[in-house]
Amino acid sequence: MSGNLLQTPIEYLKGVGPARAELLKKELGIFTYRDLINFFPNRYIDKTRFYKIAELQRNSSDVQVVGKIVHLKTVEQKRGKRLVADFIDDTGRMELVWFRGHKWIRENLKLNTPYVIFGKTNWFNGMFSMPHPEMELASDYKNNLRTAMQPVYSSTELLAKKGVTNRVMMKFIQEALKQTGFRFSESLSDELISDLKLISKSEALFNIHFPKNQELLAKAQFRLKFEELFYIQLQLLRRNLLHKRKIKGFNFDKVGSNFNDFYQQHLPFDLTDAQKRVIKEIRSDLGSGAQMNRLLQGDVGSGKTIVALMSMFMALDNGFQACLMAPTEILSVQHYNGLVELCKELNTSIYLLTGSTKTSKRKEIHEKLENGEIDILIGTHALIEDKVKFKNLGLAIVDEQHRFGVAQRAKLWKKNIVPPHVLVMTATPIPRTLAMSVYGDLDISVIDELPPGRKPVKTVHRYDSNRLKVFRFIREEIEKGRQVYIVYPLIQESEKMDYKDLMDGYESIAREFPDFQLSIVHGQMKPADKDYEMERFVKGETQIMVATTVIEVGVNVPNASVMIIESAERFGLSQLHQLRGRVGRGADQSYCILMTSHKLSEDSKTRISTMTATTDGFEIAEVDLKLRGPGDLMGTQQSGVLNLKIADVVKDNDILKAARAYASALLKEDPDLSLEKNAVIKNSYSRLMKNKTIWNYIS
Ligand code: ADP
Ligand code: MG
Repeated sequence: MSGNLLQTPIEYLKGVGPARAELLKKELGIFTYRDLINFFPNRYIDKTRFYKIAELQRNSSDVQVVGKIVHLKTVEQKRGKRLVADFIDDTGRMELVWFRGHKWIRENLKLNTPYVIFGKTNWFNGMFSMPHPEMELASDYKNNLRTAMQPVYSSTELLAKKGVTNRVMMKFIQEALKQTGFRFSESLSDELISDLKLISKSEALFNIHFPKNQELLAKAQFRLKFEELFYIQLQLLRRNLLHKRKIKGFNFDKVGSNFNDFYQQHLPFDLTDAQKRVIKEIRSDLGSGAQMNRLLQGDVGSGKTIVALMSMFMALDNGFQACLMAPTEILSVQHYNGLVELCKELNTSIYLLTGSTKTSKRKEIHEKLENGEIDILIGTHALIEDKVKFKNLGLAIVDEQHRFGVAQRAKLWKKNIVPPHVLVMTATPIPRTLAMSVYGDLDISVIDELPPGRKPVKTVHRYDSNRLKVFRFIREEIEKGRQVYIVYPLIQESEKMDYKDLMDGYESIAREFPDFQLSIVHGQMKPADKDYEMERFVKGETQIMVATTVIEVGVNVPNASVMIIESAERFGLSQLHQLRGRVGRGADQSYCILMTSHKLSEDSKTRISTMTATTDGFEIAEVDLKLRGPGDLMGTQQSGVLNLKIADVVKDNDILKAARAYASALLKEDPDLSLEKNAVIKNSYSRLMKNKTIWNYIS
């Protein structure tokens, strides 16, 4: 099929016209024939057989019946009128019912003429009735292009109101397909088609709209899903490849004294195998001559910080500076203190820059950064302000990536003329399947092993009515010398109420435990006050930390062994997992208690039971993905990447993997798509890129 016809504006299609064209554009984003043909059904109704009225079952679902209307009447009811038709076949009688559109139906329905009706049946007053059936004259039914299975297209209220029903959509698509002669140019190479035993593009497009049978539908879906995922992966992988080719990075070819001294003499523990492997991966990137763009995934407590430090040493050893950016003040301070402690035997110059750094100190830092006296700068967003200029930033590390927008990551790049190497660390385990499609342009390292001796956190669910028992448990643990977190939700929309909940909670805990010391941390406090409260808890001067989720990220107090989460039903799974990760950092058995009311939605129940069943971050992330859908997953909102036409990154995980493997193999053999046998792919790819059909991912 020539591309030109497919570019035809939708208003020229028979039966569409300017008004409906406007609707199709606005409501469904359909501008051209091509858009229409690529607007796939979201489900199908199997009309492979007809039912006799006598065969109908109560609660049977959508059925198809042939018969005729013998009588039409209007029935008055309390709210409005109802139009009722007596519908018969040779086995019995049923009713068809309409609550709207009576005039049109009265004028258009033919009595005593065979119709094919389709819809859901209700059992009502000892008889079957079908509200708002789809109807078609039996004579038309035979003439139309029709297959056993019927497509159902997603619609909108406005479309339905303006009469663009499913049947109308089907007509449009049928018309467009007819005009194209059911022939479409192939968009995958012969090699792929024969390797994967795919059906042709034409066959796939026809069968996705009007499947001849179940088997062909499955083949059409597979082919189109594969194609969609294949081109996305091809784009991501190619971009990564070009990036490596084009963007030269600093070459850190020396392993010098910082790294070696620390590794040999000051390492406080043996690295896990996973940590060693990841450090090697980073080291090989840094010495490759290309700019590193790596995502480091590792569950809470898996020991990402030490990996960050060792990576920064590689920069230092080659005469460069490094920075570590964290999403909150608390976390920045903690990183700063932690790294200063780790480096106390070395003469590494480490500074902290946050929003609350005093002006005079800030000036000092700006100067020392520019003249190279600072080796490592740690801080919050303050690091990426334009005023902050490095002498030679070689490596930028972003901790807890999901808190940073894509734009902020991009800003880091611009700190030098040659972009620094970038390492992004996250404890929100993005399921591998999703990472592949969202972060396909990053290389990924995973720390999949916790340091030895960690006991999994025991997690239980308790109702608010059991609070006294929970209090007793808190007391026992504190008397054993442990510390306790009690966390309250804080959601933007109801900040005031949450604040009140927190304060009420704080007061009742203070009343319950007059003999213990309490810290409190919440978002409305001044940073200095937060630090003071946090500090007291870190030092063990307070036993209970009452807080909102500001403590969610990264905070490390190994002696804290109990995490109580209030109104746990209001937290998302990844947040619950992050919070739980605050405990279980020491040698003692730790506990996480999820407090909820008795009223729980199905989703909340699933979240709670997932938390009590597993501590595996990846498993939790998969459940989260299923519950919330990929679009909502933290850190992926901006990417738009998951707006797929037909594939589903969760359900079609296998196809995604295959698509990635094929794309990767293809690029290995033919990085510029210049081989003759890949000409078809090159064409389709260029067209997709030109039309921005493939999203621009994280840039
Ligand atoms: P996260 O990956 O959550 O950032 P951290 O880097 O904060 O984890 O490490 C969590 C805790 O585990 C820290 O107290 C750290 O010192 C300790 N740790 C890290 N790696 C190891 C290891 N290989 N062996 C023992 N303890 C480790
Ligand atoms: Mg961390």
